[in-house]
Amino acid sequence: MDKAQQENFSRICRQFKWKCTPQRLAVYECVFNNRCHPDVDSVWQSVRSKLPTVTRESVYRILNEFAGHDLIWRLDHVSSARYDCSTVPHGHFICEECGSISDFALQEDVGVFAGELPGEVRHMEIRYTGICESCKSKSTDSFR
Ligand SMILES: [Zn+2]
Ligand SMILES: [Zn+2]
Repeated sequence: MDKAQQENFSRICRQFKWKCTPQRLAVYECVFNNRCHPDVDSVWQSVRSKLPTVTRESVYRILNEFAGHDLIWRLDHVSSARYDCSTVPHGHFICEECGSISDFALQEDVGVFAGELPGEVRHMEIRYTGICESCKSKSTDSFR
């Protein structure tokens, strides 16, 4: 890890009042500048090469801690396959509460990109996550 990265890590720890533990540092080192969207297990494997006693649970906890503070972005709902009967381009709205997936229509020019694509496209999907209307009305009900 270079000096700038190390300083960045110390700054983050100061900002969130975290201890600069070797576990956090190793997770940080693995995920930052890693463009492969690693999952928990590959991060754990990499961290374990430096800290053999670290548990999967603590790696998972640190990753979620980073994600909870917007240091990284967690891609949810991609681990288990979902099957879609509609194969025309459309958007998905995924409810974080109940896990429901609803389709929505897209504008025609949504497939236009601002730069070169890094490969040949076989599938295009727009995915939004949030709270669906029925969960939203349930949660507002509980405040009444
Ligand atoms: Zn919902
Ligand atoms: Zn769909």
